[in-house]
Amino acid sequence: MNAHIWAGEMPLLTFGSEEQKEKYLPLLCREGWIASHAASEPQAGSDLYSLKTTAQKHGDKYILNGHKHYVTNGTIADLFIIFANVDPSLGKEGLTAFVIEKDTPGLVVQKSTSTMGVRTAQVAEATLENCEVSASNRLGEEGAGLAIFNHSMEWERGFILASAVGTMERLLEHSIRYARTHRQFGQAIGKFQLVANKLVDMKLRLESAKAHLYKVAWMKENKKMALMEASMANLYISEAWVQSSLEAIEVHGAYGYLTNTELERELRDAIGSKFYSGTSEIQRVVIGKFLGL
Ligand SMILES: Cc1cc2nc3c(=O)[nH]c(=O)nc-3n(C[C@H](O)[C@H](O)[C@H](O)COP(=O)(O)OP(=O)(O)OC[C@H]3O[C@@H](n4cnc5c(N)ncnc54)[C@H](O)[C@@H]3O)c2cc1C
Repeated sequence: MNAHIWAGEMPLLTFGSEEQKEKYLPLLCREGWIASHAASEPQAGSDLYSLKTTAQKHGDKYILNGHKHYVTNGTIADLFIIFANVDPSLGKEGLTAFVIEKDTPGLVVQKSTSTMGVRTAQVAEATLENCEVSASNRLGEEGAGLAIFNHSMEWERGFILASAVGTMERLLEHSIRYARTHRQFGQAIGKFQLVANKLVDMKLRLESAKAHLYKVAWMKENKKMALMEASMANLYISEAWVQSSLEAIEVHGAYGYLTNTELERELRDAIGSKFYSGTSEIQRVVIGKFLGL
């Protein structure tokens, strides 16, 4: 849902031509079409602007060649937002986005090897081999890829972890219930300060995560730029989610280590959030730049 909305529908809504919006938004919003965002490449992850996929212009057509990986929804997507460079000599100024339908000749999508977590949203490899599209498939102007990518990242970093805040709330409720009822040394384990402190820290992280998330939501609702706040929300919530998942397992003891309690799955899912939408290190780099560093 997050890849579909923030990096699929939102760039189309903001940068799409009237024709693209009329054609694709109803399909994506109402008719069950799924969108995918293909930017990352083997040598262009954090350094996305150095991507190698090219889009050569021939008359009113573009021919795309390159390889993408970690494409969320790739194998089930109907529509791809694909980033390529129309003139590598221009560097990031040549970055351009294209809207390409799944059955376009030259676009081949394959499932990647499985991931540690987030297994309900599988990632894929996408190869573009002389994939010919019309100029009407270009999203925005030539060279607008950078702005489109940053726009998608502002929304995605800001909101992709909203559901994680709900997960942290559920983890806390389950852990409190267990700490109140499970007994050792003749009393509920929550009476031990070492256990209670974990629950207190989980509560602090939950409330801080909410504050970060709601601030970005308020800023976007009020049409403000929130690039730094989105990175702060993403960084804080992902790290808080990992730590709270780990502490929820610890509070449950060996019971939390069993797969059927599903707590270990939360930890595996949480770890993934330190990579997608930019790694924790890159969020720190972005925030540092806003601080003039
Ligand atoms: C579950 C999942 C879903 C994803 N979905 C998509 C998707 O739909 N579309 C898409 O395009 N991509 C997607 N990605 C890819 C994601 O955007 C990249 O994994 C991410 O940008 C990091 O790139 P990388 O994995 O190549 O790591 P690298 O960039 O190779 O980084 C390796 C390590 O070096 C560090 N590093 C790199 N540069 C710096 C620096 N300047 N300063 C400090 N540290 C640095 C990184 O933080 C990291 O620790 C997904 C990833 C995951 C895990």
